[in-house]
Amino acid sequence: MQASIGKLLGRIRVISGHISRSAMQSSKDITTVDYLVLGAGSGGIASARRATEFGISAAIIEHGRLGGTCVNVGCVPKKVMFYTASHAESLHDHADYGFTVPQPVTFTWKTIKEKRDAYIKRLNGIYAANLEKAQVSHIQGHGVFTGEKSPYPVISVAGKRYSAPNILIATGGYALFPSEEEIPGASLGITSDGFFDLEDLPKKTVVVGAGYIAVELAGILNALGSETRLVIRRHQALRNFDSAISENVTLEMQNAGIAVDKFSHVKQVVKDSSGKLSVTILSSPPDGDACTLVVNDVECLIWAIGRNPNTNIGLDKVGVELDAKGNIKVDEFQNTTVPGVYSVGDVQGKQLLTPVAIAAGRRLAHRLFNNETNLKLSYENIPTVVFSHPPIGTIGFTEEEARKQHGDKNIKIYKASFTPMYYAMTQRKEKCLMKLVCLLPTEKVIGLHMQGVGCDEMLQGFGVAIKMGATKADFDNCVAIHPTSSEEFVTMR
Ligand SMILES: Cc1cc2nc3c(=O)[nH]c(=O)nc-3n(C[C@H](O)[C@H](O)[C@H](O)COP(=O)(O)OP(=O)(O)OC[C@H]3O[C@@H](n4cnc5c(N)ncnc54)[C@H](O)[C@@H]3O)c2cc1C
Repeated sequence: MQASIGKLLGRIRVISGHISRSAMQSSKDITTVDYLVLGAGSGGIASARRATEFGISAAIIEHGRLGGTCVNVGCVPKKVMFYTASHAESLHDHADYGFTVPQPVTFTWKTIKEKRDAYIKRLNGIYAANLEKAQVSHIQGHGVFTGEKSPYPVISVAGKRYSAPNILIATGGYALFPSEEEIPGASLGITSDGFFDLEDLPKKTVVVGAGYIAVELAGILNALGSETRLVIRRHQALRNFDSAISENVTLEMQNAGIAVDKFSHVKQVVKDSSGKLSVTILSSPPDGDACTLVVNDVECLIWAIGRNPNTNIGLDKVGVELDAKGNIKVDEFQNTTVPGVYSVGDVQGKQLLTPVAIAAGRRLAHRLFNNETNLKLSYENIPTVVFSHPPIGTIGFTEEEARKQHGDKNIKIYKASFTPMYYAMTQRKEKCLMKLVCLLPTEKVIGLHMQGVGCDEMLQGFGVAIKMGATKADFDNCVAIHPTSSEEFVTMR
């Protein structure tokens, strides 16, 4: 499975009759490179660029904009909007800190949207330049496996055929949309992709979903002044997070003014004569009567109900298998079920995060082309931030997972909840919640969870400590930084 450069070049020699380490090889109208990557998102680009550092030839196929989900319709534009929303929030505090803010304060969505779009266009250009600098050939178009062998699997793009002894599938995923059969009028809504196309701030929004994308978009819209509802199926959002976090984030959203419809789902959507939507929501609390709520004058309905992997690329023709959830099946080295075909990122369904796709893609390049035969990504203890209001930082076991895996008697929990000093001066209050999950007898920290102002920037350093196996005593040996919120982690008892 692992090919040294010598072997790769040997194979290419057979196909093309000559060796070139940086150019694509053509033979019998099939263009062959050492490494062919399908999907120029976070994982694909990182892997292809790293691979050419080892002197091999690589090409990357992309049917959309370079950079994939993260750059175009994910992390990057989302974070710009999070910063925008954070400005709106701190405006409320200016008077408390002695500033006179001329009233009324106005906000122009169009201004930030234009600047955000220009920034992303600039990033697209930087990605193109970086690929060129790394001598990765960029093939623009939709790629699908044809089922032919060259002797390696062949991918066709607009009638042209490409192949390689090493093929990476990094096609990412797409946002789910309910069907019209499931929910009449569902197509009147948009997904997170459509959120980034909005030309104006909707006056009234319904967001459906309980995952991090739903929480983040609802938080942004609410902070910017859209009357926002969040429709969730159960009693809390972010249910797969530590229970303290799911409880707190749900409460914080409500405190910030988001109407959270619990145990609820959308039954139907209709458009009225003014173009606004009426969204019918059915709530069925386990301990009460079911009731129906019709929310009128909705200007924007966002489905944030999950994402599916992009696997409609002829995988069955080459024998690449999917797992029970429809993700590409890979082993711990990112090998698919077909030798010479690998997969990283969202399409293989593990930890759907940009740095995870990048890290897996780069390690794969080192393993395949730099003889680092045992290199692989550890999917344990991956830190994650949710850009909610306030933000959440989390790594490792939740309390519930730790108790289940190690037994109640082997787990010690440290927990703190306090109002950060910033809010001592303000009318507006937000709590900070912090929790450490420790494994006895050493009190090794196996989980860290927090929600509060600054937690997004606090997590990375604690992540390093936890990856290194730090105990609560190690935390406490580090002198506190005062006055900060993070000092709580080294002083909590
Ligand atoms: C709203 C939102 C917010 C997010 N926020 C964060 C965040 O804050 N932090 C974080 O770490 N992650 C975040 N993510 C997740 C992150 O964007 C993904 O985990 C990451 O982009 C996955 O990278 P990837 O390389 O697997 O796929 P992608 O980046 O999706 O790239 C796949 C590429 O393949 C292309 N492609 C697919 N099929 C084909 C084909 N047949 N032919 C040619 N090209 C094809 C696609 O056009 C795409 O460019 C967010 C996602 C969303 C939707």
